[in-house]
Amino acid sequence: MKAICLTETGGPEVLTYTDAPVPEPGPDEVLVEVLYAGVNYIDTYYRSGIYHAQLPFTPGLEGVGRVVEDKSGKITEGTKVAWMDAFGSYAEYVTVHRDRLVAVPQELEDTQAASMLLQGMTAHYLTHSTYQLQEGETCLITAGAGGVGRLATQFAKSRGATVYSVVSSDSKEKLAYEAGADEVFRYSDQLAETVRRRNGGRGVDVVYDGVGKATFGESLEAVRPRGLVCLFGAASGPVDPIDPQVLNAHGSIYLTRPSLGPYTAGNEEFTARAQAVVQALVEETITMRVSGVYPLADAQRAHEDLQARKTTGSIVLEV
Ligand code: NDP
Repeated sequence: MKAICLTETGGPEVLTYTDAPVPEPGPDEVLVEVLYAGVNYIDTYYRSGIYHAQLPFTPGLEGVGRVVEDKSGKITEGTKVAWMDAFGSYAEYVTVHRDRLVAVPQELEDTQAASMLLQGMTAHYLTHSTYQLQEGETCLITAGAGGVGRLATQFAKSRGATVYSVVSSDSKEKLAYEAGADEVFRYSDQLAETVRRRNGGRGVDVVYDGVGKATFGESLEAVRPRGLVCLFGAASGPVDPIDPQVLNAHGSIYLTRPSLGPYTAGNEEFTARAQAVVQALVEETITMRVSGVYPLADAQRAHEDLQARKTTGSIVLEV
């Protein structure tokens, strides 16, 4: 089969389109023929070596495709499925744990289904579990036109919250407003002050910060006393270590650095969260915006564009 393989970590140039053996499914796994693979920021962390994976490897964690073989006989051959958490998804075939698959309703396009789970479930746990936004509460979301940012904005609005968002350009500002943000700002060292001014002089209840290094200082400033800074990513680079006293100085604020794993660890929670995302898409409470479809062989370009801030919403590889 064709696949993207890495024999060393580094820049996008290490993503090599090559031949690889079709993987053998284990007893709890299903072999799937991939139609589209979702491209996520976390894939760039594995590629660059910030997150560790045993070399050589094929990156990618999610996608949409058709079941080729399920030895247990529980899933019929040809069933269209989406998945998350299956390392090696940038390939023509991938093995997926049976419990990490969801059926794809016919209302959803393949490109949407390929990228809905990782970003959708992240946006869901951030707004429904890490901090359960309530009607009338306020939040600040960084990179509001990005994959997670757009979806978090829509989930936050569906819970009745006011959303302040921050983006880097006019076109992204338009998209963040279309996603439902109440006010959209630009990155600056005045960001927290601007947010507070628009928020009646008060800090927001929660900041969802996926940008990291470049925004973390403003995130600490933008939250109200006893509010939560939820640092969920590092698109601009990882945040430097901090002294816990900083949390005291900002008004007994809370800080968390969550990841999707613990919020989908049990099969019950995974299924409930995945179904919530699928249902929200079918009912159009949230919408996916797939701004780029790249051939599998062009995975390098997909990573370059993602890291150069050229993408909006989600992007996928056509296999
Ligand atoms: P995005 O589509 O949001 O792309 C990243 C965006 O970050 C860019 O488009 C850009 O938007 C913004 N950004 C700000 N500064 C930089 C910079 N220096 N370089 C590149 N981008 C920058 O990506 P994802 O939705 O896939 O992921 C967003 C973040 O969420 C990532 O950090 C990712 O690792 C994290 N994440 C965390 C998860 C978790 O469970 N903890 C799960 C999924 C994702 P703009 O130009 O508007 O600033």
